[in-house]
Amino acid sequence: MAEKRVALVTGAGRGIGACIANTLAADGCDIAVVDYSDVSAAEETMRQLAEQGASARYYRCDVSDFSAVKAVTDAVVKDFGKIDILVNNAGVTADGLLLRMSEAEWDRVLSINLKGCFNLIKHVAPHMLRKRSGRIVSISSVVGLMGNAGQANYAASKAGIVGLTKSVAKELGSRNITANAVAPGFIRTAMTDALSEEQKQAMYKLIPLGSLGEVQDIANAVKFLVSEEARYITGVVLKVDGGMYI
Ligand code: NAP
Repeated sequence: MAEKRVALVTGAGRGIGACIANTLAADGCDIAVVDYSDVSAAEETMRQLAEQGASARYYRCDVSDFSAVKAVTDAVVKDFGKIDILVNNAGVTADGLLLRMSEAEWDRVLSINLKGCFNLIKHVAPHMLRKRSGRIVSISSVVGLMGNAGQANYAASKAGIVGLTKSVAKELGSRNITANAVAPGFIRTAMTDALSEEQKQAMYKLIPLGSLGEVQDIANAVKFLVSEEARYITGVVLKVDGGMYI
């Protein structure tokens, strides 16, 4: 039997991250769940992973904290022996028009969404380099490609992930490490469920495929990018947005 791969997934407590963790577990991976404030959500993900028979552990960590991320990365390698897959999924929003956006709102979103990816890649990559293999996938957003009024901080962080991913792909490619990004469009989550029917209809008009995406659509893209079938794909931004941004 092939050795199980180990995937570290940030923000795996809920939403898209929980679905990615479950999908990779169903694909035969062991999972390091990294999440921060909502401990009960992370415990629910752990319960689901255990149900699938995956070996999983929960690490409570703020991805924006450089030294905490190093400690967690070291702990994951100690516990599982290796990290084959890194999925940078943790992300937050603090929306508002630029003229009203505070410095704190800018710093928080950039620290978690963009510096968080740097922190993880910085500490995980040395382990992948030693093994001469690895897969890195970071979750960007169509908003990072097209911009969005009221989300200057979020869009900048998600655009930053694109530049970071392409640079890392160039730096690590010779060691058989791929780095790719997934850019979701509007995905059905608690956030979009709260929208009125009128707001939803307005959204559908922007999407050629005419509906919101599901968290599973994003998890499927991640599963593909970390698979052997995607071994020759690096530095791409895979849009999963129903054609919202073409
Ligand atoms: P979500 O439901 O709000 O989940 C975000 C996850 O990130 C939570 O588990 C959260 O855990 C974790 N997190 C937040 N801050 C963290 C920190 N400092 N350290 C560690 N973990 C942290 O969001 P989602 O909708 O699933 O989105 C997941 C990713 O997809 C994000 O990067 C988001 O920007 C991106 N995305 C989403 C959509 C969409 O339509 N939903 C569209 C485009 C892109 P705690 O709060 O418990 O710490």
